[in-house]
Order: sequence, then C-alpha cells, then structure tokens
Amino acid sequence: RTVYVNGVYLPENQAQISIFDRGFLFADAVYEVTAVLGGKLLDFEAHMARLKRSMRELDMTLPYADEDLLAIHKALVEKNDLEEGLVYLQLTRGAADRDFDFSEMTGEPGIVLFTQAKPLIASTLAQRGQKIILADDLRWGRSDIKTVQLLYSSLMKTRAKKAGADDVWLCRDGKITEGSSNNAYIVTENNEIITRELSNDILHGITRSAVLKVAKLHQMKVIERAFTIEELKSAKEAFSTSASGFVNPVVDVDGLAIGDGVPGAVSSTLREAYLTESRRTAI
Ligand code: PMP
Repeated sequence: RTVYVNGVYLPENQAQISIFDRGFLFADAVYEVTAVLGGKLLDFEAHMARLKRSMRELDMTLPYADEDLLAIHKALVEKNDLEEGLVYLQLTRGAADRDFDFSEMTGEPGIVLFTQAKPLIASTLAQRGQKIILADDLRWGRSDIKTVQLLYSSLMKTRAKKAGADDVWLCRDGKITEGSSNNAYIVTENNEIITRELSNDILHGITRSAVLKVAKLHQMKVIERAFTIEELKSAKEAFSTSASGFVNPVVDVDGLAIGDGVPGAVSSTLREAYLTESRRTAI
C-alpha cells in the first residue's frame, strides 16, 4: 500500500513515526474513518467536520485546510486503486519528550492516512445479522470525542468474538450507550426507531445522523432517547450503524433471539435507503 505521513506519500514499510509521538505514548490522537464505494468517499464533509470538533475539544489545531484533506484522501484512493473499503486518518498532537503536560509543545500535529480495501456492500454480517453480547460501559466520560483511546472497546470486542458473538454493546445504568464501534438502535412493535440521544456518552456517528435523516424522509418515526436492556431484549428489531458497516441488523443479544431471529424489514429498508442516498452524495 501507499500511505501518507506528514506530507509524503510512500510505501507502508517505509513510513515512520517517532517513538515519542504522543499518539503512541498517551493515546493523544484523534481519527476518522471514511468509507469508499465505487472509488468515491461517503459523507466526507461530515467526517472532516467531526474531526475538527474532536480536535477543538482536545485543544489541538488542524494544520490542514479541508481541500488539502480531500486531496490527500483522493490521492490515496487513486494510488491504491481503492474501489471499495476505508480511508483511515489519524492526527496526533505530535512528538515531545514524555511529559503529561503538553503546554510547552511547539511542534505541529502529525498526520497519517492509509487505505484498507474491504468488501462493504456484500457483508455476511448484514445478510445473516449480528450476534452481540452486552458489557458494562467502562470507557472514559468523553466518548463523543473520537480519540484512538480504544483499548476498552477493543478488549470487549475480542472477548465477544471469543464467546462466539460478533460484537459487544455497552451499557450504563441498565441502558445501552453504543456498540464497540457503532451506534445502537431498536425498533419497537409500533415501528418506532429508538436510539440514544447525543451527549458526551456516545460518539456522534456520521452514519447515525445520515440514517436518521433518511428514516424521517421515509416517514419512519424516530425517537432519540436511551433504551433499556429489557427494551432491547423484547424489541422487534435491533441494528447498528457505522461508516464501515452502514446499517447492520442485530439478531441475537446474549443468546436471546431478537424478533424472529433474522434481519428485520426496517433494518433492511434503512440499509438500502442509506446506501442509495450516500452513493448519490459521494465525492
Ligand atoms: N460509536 C463508536 C464508539 C464508534 O467507534 C463509531 C465508528 N467510528 C461509531 C459509533 C459510528 O460512527 P460513524 O457512523 O461516524 O462511523
């Protein structure tokens, strides 16, 4: 693969980052993942807007204009002949001798981008539906900032896989916050779509916002509030959303079938409608 590191395109095995990089030492870095379909970027502006918000919340400054970021994304898609997959972007505060206090840092943030070729449309998970397990949400209190501090979710996802499930949904005070790397939804018997309201507890998913818009366009009823574990277990349908998974049905929670135990109609409709709309606006 050709990757991008601090102004240079080069083969991945020649890319280098300092061992003093604060992204490495302190997880002091933010990231974005943008999906690519047919060689085009989905929801690009929204991802860059969230990147800037994450940086602002961490007192980081972005040394790149939107056009530069778009040009780098596009160049990597082209150099790697990426038809379908992801572009990963990470911005770190940069390198400095190890110190909790970063107020004296003078260097610029570091930037890294790479692509991952991956079939996103023909997803087995979307066809058969995901099995999930539940775990306590023990992440820090600012899950709305997209930092690379992903250890807890990564650990829980790995345990879920070992237990024969596909993913983990996190819970706080008996209510679902979100999935390891996706937002969480249920559909009630009345076909109401329920998903947790935006707060510091969850990532403000770009796909979440696009899917809710599409749902409203289709005259579906959307309620933004937290739902309980009991509501999830007795829901007609459940699904998750993310840039890489689009809309992904959930058919099993802690070994209990959701609805009929197969992907539901609302999830399927939303997946198709989201894909149609995001392909239309892809750049
Ligand atoms: N929540 C978490 C914790 C995530 O990591 C992600 C994916 N990055 C999402 C939700 C979904 O966000 P998006 O739709 O922007 O990919």
